[in-house]
Amino acid sequence: MASTKKSVSSRAKRVGRQKTAAEQRRQQREYDGVPAEIVELLESGDLLPEWDTFYRAFPTVTTAVEAVTLGQEEVRLESHEHELLLLEVVVEDGEAVVMTTLYVPYGTRDALLSGLFNSAPADRDQALATMAGILLELLPDEARIEGVEAVVEPPAPGSPAPRFAYRFKTPALGLTTWNSYYEATIRFSPLREAVGWIDTRTATHAEAAAILRRHGIPATSCAQCGHAVTNRHPAWPGLWVDFIAEGGPICELYDDSALARDNELDSLAIGGPHRVMALEEVEQASQPAGR
Ligand SMILES: [Zn+2]
Repeated sequence: MASTKKSVSSRAKRVGRQKTAAEQRRQQREYDGVPAEIVELLESGDLLPEWDTFYRAFPTVTTAVEAVTLGQEEVRLESHEHELLLLEVVVEDGEAVVMTTLYVPYGTRDALLSGLFNSAPADRDQALATMAGILLELLPDEARIEGVEAVVEPPAPGSPAPRFAYRFKTPALGLTTWNSYYEATIRFSPLREAVGWIDTRTATHAEAAAILRRHGIPATSCAQCGHAVTNRHPAWPGLWVDFIAEGGPICELYDDSALARDNELDSLAIGGPHRVMALEEVEQASQPAGR
């Protein structure tokens, strides 16, 4: 009995070893030249589809640089995993450059769009130029890192809104793996964190609107909910709206209890509008920091 058991178990071990060896051969075939850390990511099942596609196409910086210098392929990854990220490899002045673009968080974007739409149409180009100069000021101190440039991209075709971002570029020369790129750019980590989903240090909504107003940009926020608002939204002219899809003209902090009755048949309550100070009040209120 004992010897049978032993032989079964050693057969199982042998089969297990064969499976492992077969798996190793499969990985060697599938991932020829791919760094171990990227193989691990691709095999983990945890990668978002855009990263999976990107790392399979360009498993190293070297392969990405080859693709762009031969002019065959665009190297471009757009991901919203931790923040609004665009990673590209481009050729500038004949040199390959890894370019990371981090778009401002949504609440910051809303304040900037409020300032843009509230500007008279003839003043909007000037407003955008001024905003480019203020973008870094919206970041916490530790994220204002030398080598970071503020970017205002014109609206994409068919879009009413420009894009606002922070960008840093790193020469690809000397970089091999993506790990070598992440190590070379580690000093920009505080910027990545500051614009990330879980961080709240970058100025958004009312705080960002106040900073913009100090620079003469007529950004506005609601005195009740604090959201950045405009009354020149293309779809809601003349009505104060925020830029949050389900919010629009309805202020989430409007007190409509005076309109509400226990019996809904007797009630007029449907929420209410954002409350925005007159522009002179806005200017006075934005003199001392915070309100
Ligand atoms: Zn409101």
